[in-house]
Amino acid sequence: MDGAPLPEGPPRAFARVHALVLLGPPGAGKGTQSRQISRKFGIPEISTGVILRQAVREKSPLGLRAQVVMDAGHLVPDELVCSIVEDRISKPDCDRGFILDGFPRNTAQARFLDALLRRRKLGSALAVSVNVASDSLRKRLSGRQTCPQCGTIYNVYLHPSQKEGICDRDGAALTQRRDDSEESIRSRLSEFESLTRPVIEYYRQADLLREVDGNGSPEAVTTQLFSVLKDL
Ligand code: AMP
Repeated sequence: MDGAPLPEGPPRAFARVHALVLLGPPGAGKGTQSRQISRKFGIPEISTGVILRQAVREKSPLGLRAQVVMDAGHLVPDELVCSIVEDRISKPDCDRGFILDGFPRNTAQARFLDALLRRRKLGSALAVSVNVASDSLRKRLSGRQTCPQCGTIYNVYLHPSQKEGICDRDGAALTQRRDDSEESIRSRLSEFESLTRPVIEYYRQADLLREVDGNGSPEAVTTQLFSVLKDL
């Protein structure tokens, strides 16, 4: 027991919203925030990036196909990520709803998600865009460190671990993502603008978009997100 409060269960609106989609540029803090929402409401967070990185580490056929594309900071083909999501959401822990971090990344994936939710007779998606000024994103990405054991995300410039390079929660050595290199950061930010920005408009037009200011501290962003979910 780590003394963490018990999850509350999904917000009431999750009777009609089944998939909470966190949108925002690389470095906006989607991973950190989806973890907080998952803990509070007891619904799983599904990060296509985490699943893909795991596949790369295991050198599975999926990982071998994805690795070069990911290292270069480009998007993995839709057919691969869509089937990852379809498999994952059919697991029983997704029955009460789930959070998507890093999916959909383009409008084809957003349409796929809509069709999948309809086919399974689940509630709709609701997207929350975490908006961050573009000039701070590079610092957030190049300083990012992740705990390989518990997934906690730190930043050497903005919110470092207490002991340099060591996770506060479990003492594991922190790692840096391979795609947080200068060149890869450049292409990820540019693909966000050209391919993922239209997804925000896709949800806005369907009146399924909420927005939060992601420029403050992680705690301040979490507070805004919880209040958006409470007021649905
Ligand atoms: P992330 O952890 O969300 O930043 O994702 C890391 C990398 O995984 C991305 O730069 C892409 O190469 C790949 N990736 C993750 N999610 C997707 C997706 N929905 N579509 C295509 N590629 C993805």
